[in-house]
Amino acid sequence: MSAQQSQNQSPSAAADQETRGVVIIGGGQAGLQAAASLRSEGFTGEVTIVAEEPGLPYQRPPLSKDYLKARLTDGADGVGGTSASPLPLRGEAFFADQSITLLTGRTAVAVDRPSQTVALADGTVLVYDSLVFATGARNRELPTPGIDLPGIHGLRTLEDAELLGAALDTARNVVVVGAGFIGLEFATAALARGCRVTVLEFAPRPMGRALTPLLGDWFAGAHRDLGLDLRLNEGIASFEAGDDGRVAFAVSTTGDRYPADLVVAGVGVQPNDHLAAEAGLETANGIVVDAHLRTIDPNIYAIGDCAAFPCVHAGGPFRLESVQNATDHARHVAGVILGADAPYAELPWFWSTQGPFRLQMANIVRADDETVVVGDPDPASPTFSVFCFRDGILAAVESVNMPSDHLSARKILAAGIQITREEALSEGFSLRAAYKERTQPAAV
Ligand SMILES: Cc1cc2nc3c(=O)[nH]c(=O)nc-3n(C[C@H](O)[C@H](O)[C@H](O)COP(=O)(O)OP(=O)(O)OC[C@H]3O[C@@H](n4cnc5c(N)ncnc54)[C@H](O)[C@@H]3O)c2cc1C
Repeated sequence: MSAQQSQNQSPSAAADQETRGVVIIGGGQAGLQAAASLRSEGFTGEVTIVAEEPGLPYQRPPLSKDYLKARLTDGADGVGGTSASPLPLRGEAFFADQSITLLTGRTAVAVDRPSQTVALADGTVLVYDSLVFATGARNRELPTPGIDLPGIHGLRTLEDAELLGAALDTARNVVVVGAGFIGLEFATAALARGCRVTVLEFAPRPMGRALTPLLGDWFAGAHRDLGLDLRLNEGIASFEAGDDGRVAFAVSTTGDRYPADLVVAGVGVQPNDHLAAEAGLETANGIVVDAHLRTIDPNIYAIGDCAAFPCVHAGGPFRLESVQNATDHARHVAGVILGADAPYAELPWFWSTQGPFRLQMANIVRADDETVVVGDPDPASPTFSVFCFRDGILAAVESVNMPSDHLSARKILAAGIQITREEALSEGFSLRAAYKERTQPAAV
């Protein structure tokens, strides 16, 4: 019997007749992985994903990177600069093979905790034993005068990326508001498509919330060398229309006017936590969960971008926006639903590709970390890492075009191996060798 009830059926009456299972709200990276992990861990009950977006669940990271570049190639092939590659996380057959019900283009609008039901916008009511919020986040909206002018966009969904990819076919002057990861990824992609690109950032350095000041400053210089007009300490004040009614200028807080036929606002996201709040669950910049990713309701969990969880590596409640966080949360919650009891403690890591720079971060950096550059930071061909020390012990590593450092750092930090500052900065030190040395028994 399906957990999906017919329209207009009384939830409580029908619930009595149903074989209950797990309902997941959100068909993004976290929601899909939770369903897949439930199955791979042996869950035999019903698994239903309610996914607001149309089509198969897809990867978001390429949307601001290769997906925009690929359009250039497609355009050269005569397809008019449009790329139809949908970036699915799993093919259609996966859902049938795994007996996972995927309800695409359907929105959950209310959760009733006493009857353990979820109401969808089309009137369908689903019953659950366990409910997982994997509702992600949405772009923060700028309150700037002129923000509604045609030509101003955000970048979160496949639809956004398709629109922007097409807009880059004709755009000449691009203004990006916000020098965060997505803003800079888009900016470098637009630069590669031959646009003049201005980036406005009100903070003193790019990616300031996530990077050490040392690496933020390095990126400011490196991006300017690439050709980005990066304006720091300069926010957006207003947008002005041209004769055609579309955006024509971005006016900054210094009063400067930048020509703009395309604007991308990348000023961060807000968690989709309103449904949980309306159901009486605690929210505070995300759906508040405990170390088992469980809300105050023992049958309800939250994972991925929408979850505010006690992060042992950040030293308190934290919300992360990364594929690692979404997928590790999802695997963990599947285990918890199946009875596992360990608290969530995975090491956070992240990557971003900005033009020729592959940035990778192992663990969360803190403002007072002591930072040391190891390697060659020459912006023309950089290969280096920033070692971050806390109380003289390696605590985080940021890498630029140094994937081997990143992978070794992840292993070292996840295993709790202590590398002292003295050792890390000694002649001939390598993270890879250090990891091997500490984990493989010495030859006799
Ligand atoms: C352009 C872009 C580039 C990125 N690049 C990187 C990167 O390089 N590296 C990295 O680690 N991370 C990157 N990220 C972040 C990463 O993609 C996210 O952290 C990850 O996708 C979060 O997964 P999620 O499932 O929690 O949320 P989402 O992927 O946002 O999925 C949530 C889904 O839930 C749906 N939903 C919400 N409310 C409802 C409802 N009421 N009913 C039904 N469905 C609902 C939403 O429509 C959405 O489809 C990027 C993100 C973007 C947007």
